[in-house]
Order: sequence, then structure tokens, then C-alpha cells
Amino acid sequence: MSKLILPASFWQAASRGLKGKCPRCSEASLFRAWLKPVASCPTCGQDWTHQQADDFPAYVAILVTGHLMAPLIIWLVTDFDLGSLALLAIIVPLAVAMMLGMLQPVKGAIIAAQWWNGLHGFKKERAAEAE
Ligand SMILES: [Zn+2]
Repeated sequence: MSKLILPASFWQAASRGLKGKCPRCSEASLFRAWLKPVASCPTCGQDWTHQQADDFPAYVAILVTGHLMAPLIIWLVTDFDLGSLALLAIIVPLAVAMMLGMLQPVKGAIIAAQWWNGLHGFKKERAAEAE
């Protein structure tokens, strides 16, 4: 077992979660299936059953997708002579792919944020306290 290196900052914890890694040790996977977190980390033993991401990852994915898609949709509509069906055929699959692709990383980051802030029964740990 390698030495536990706690994240130095909120952003490091969140980036570990974004990559689908355990926010606490960054060694093992945070997910056992697409959107199912492991019950506990096989490397550091962190209990992940306290996480309550609920549908917040979906809200974040929709918000980000909307903000990225809006300029693209405006550009497609104003600069190209595409019919409604062609627009639909470009926009819908792209939006769905972006939202689905974002769900797991966003969920990982949200779980990391909950853990970092000691929410919902998570123990708040900081690198300095671990020394
Ligand atoms: Zn871990």
C-alpha cells in the first residue's frame, strides 16, 4: 500500500474526482460502474456511502452543455444554410453526448467537494493534519 497523500487543496480533490479517482488518495477508482461510486476505497478505505450527489451532476451537466451549445447553435444558424432537420441532427446528438459524457466526471468532482468540506458525515481531513 502506497503512502496516503491527501489532496493539498479543494481543487486537487475535485480534479481527482473529475478523473474518477478517489479524492482522498487518488489511487483507486471512485466508481464501480458508470454512475455508481464504490462503497469504500480499496486503497485508503475511505467510506464513500456518505456521498449525496443526487441529481446535482445532471444540473451541472445541463448548465455547462447549455452554455457551450448556445454559441455553437447561434453560429450554425447564422453562418450556415442548414435545414431544421440538419440542425437537429447536429445539435441533439452533440448535446446528449456532452451531457452523458460529463455526468461521471461531474459526479466525481461533487463527491470530492462533499468529502473535502466534510458534508453528510464525511470526516474533514487536511494534508497538514495527516502529518
Ligand atoms: Zn482512496
